[in-house]
Amino acid sequence: MIDLHIHTTCSDGQFTPEETMRLAAEAGVTVAAVTDHDTVSGISRARQTAQQLGMTFFSGIEISVQYTRELHILGYGIDADSAALLAFCEENARNRRERTSRMLEFLHRRGVVISLEDVRRCNQGRTSGRPHFARALVELGYAGSIQDAFEKYLATPAFYAEAERPKPSPEKGIAVIRQAGGVAVLAHPHQLKLEGPELEALLQQLISLGLQGIEAHYSRHTAEQTRLYLQLAEKYGLLVTSGSDFHGPSVKPDIQLGSGVAGSLCVEDGEIPRRLAQAIAANSALA
Ligand code: AMP
Ligand code: FE
Ligand code: FE
Ligand code: ZN
Repeated sequence: MIDLHIHTTCSDGQFTPEETMRLAAEAGVTVAAVTDHDTVSGISRARQTAQQLGMTFFSGIEISVQYTRELHILGYGIDADSAALLAFCEENARNRRERTSRMLEFLHRRGVVISLEDVRRCNQGRTSGRPHFARALVELGYAGSIQDAFEKYLATPAFYAEAERPKPSPEKGIAVIRQAGGVAVLAHPHQLKLEGPELEALLQQLISLGLQGIEAHYSRHTAEQTRLYLQLAEKYGLLVTSGSDFHGPSVKPDIQLGSGVAGSLCVEDGEIPRRLAQAIAANSALA
């Protein structure tokens, strides 16, 4: 099995890079990529463990860019030592830290009694993302589930207006991946909630900025969505990738490494990594 979309404790995943790669191997994953949000800090540890366990490993990152909804770009084969990429990650980390205090204020204005310590306690002392806040909101009894915490607080129009961090433009996000020798891929296209000409217009725009692939196979895609994204990949000459978006059971309880939601993924490890590796080699030669 192949799984090219995996999070660790370096962003909002539950397990360390080493633990995550061990779990992936146990689940039957043979080709893996770690794609933490806006950071490359887990790559070398994950690579080492993955290779010790005999897996093929791709370096990765998932970058959230400006858009009316969540628009995430995956970058594969990036050089984790690229100065441009490291500076980009540092700026995003700073924006995340600044968002943390705005999120606390946002929640306090809504009568939620929560402190930074509450958020850190449920995450081994670290804070980086909304899922950590979501977990704290569940523990403190303000939400029934992670999903409920997002619906009530963390993915509301008010949240985006009052607390969200500045995000890089799609142009910047794709450019920094390409500069680091990587291949840029549109993550979980179903989250865009677009179809037909609107979806194609966005795809065309992203392709003009350097996008080279689409995550057609994704845990939460229906068979019909997967077919649509495979057709679009064919039409626009895009690479196809496959990823679970595993974060660990305490963050996304239904998503399993390699196989997705109740076996929704289970893509064989043949053509996809071969084509991806070719594209990375071509980009690295140019970067
Ligand atoms: P952040 O990068 O800190 O803004 O958080 C992004 C993370 O929150 C990603 O892992 C998403 O899967 C998760 N997320 C975003 N929106 C939702 C939602 N509506 N329900 C559940 N998880 C979400
Ligand atoms: Fe995440
Ligand atoms: Fe994402
Ligand atoms: Zn993700």
